[in-house]
Amino acid sequence: MIVERWAADLKRTGAKEIGGVLFGEQIDEGDFRIVEATRQRFWGGTATTFKRRGGGARKEILALHEKAGGDPERFNYLGEWHSHPNAPAWPSLQDEITMYNLLADQGEAVNFLVLMIVKLDEREQLHIGARTYLASGHKLPCKIEIEDFAVKVECGGLSGDEEKE
Ligand SMILES: [Zn+2]
Repeated sequence: MIVERWAADLKRTGAKEIGGVLFGEQIDEGDFRIVEATRQRFWGGTATTFKRRGGGARKEILALHEKAGGDPERFNYLGEWHSHPNAPAWPSLQDEITMYNLLADQGEAVNFLVLMIVKLDEREQLHIGARTYLASGHKLPCKIEIEDFAVKVECGGLSGDEEKE
């Protein structure tokens, strides 16, 4: 129940940024379901920043691959998530730079990454904003759907209609 856990965690951590890696299941081309959102930066954030620990993230991703049974076409590292307690649920300029750097670090094995920003508003409603970053330097907006507490990400441009963006 990722949505419930996010809401509870965001409430508990208040003004501190938290985050981790996203592991997803591909449902269709450009359509994903979030299988796991790790809580790597749970204790490391400050009010406006977080530090991503590359080594820890790699370990978590490997463990998730193992748990998924080694079917990387279907289950794979999808990207990153973090909270924006003090900013809108949308990637900041620094966030975008971080994502392009991450893509560069992944080499040719990864040609896109999703960044999801989560936020609780003053009525404790969860907001989720997401963008997909492509190794080509383009970025695409993503549609988020919450169904029975599952989070689905729809990145239309990945299924070949990138020209329309
Ligand atoms: Zn951010």
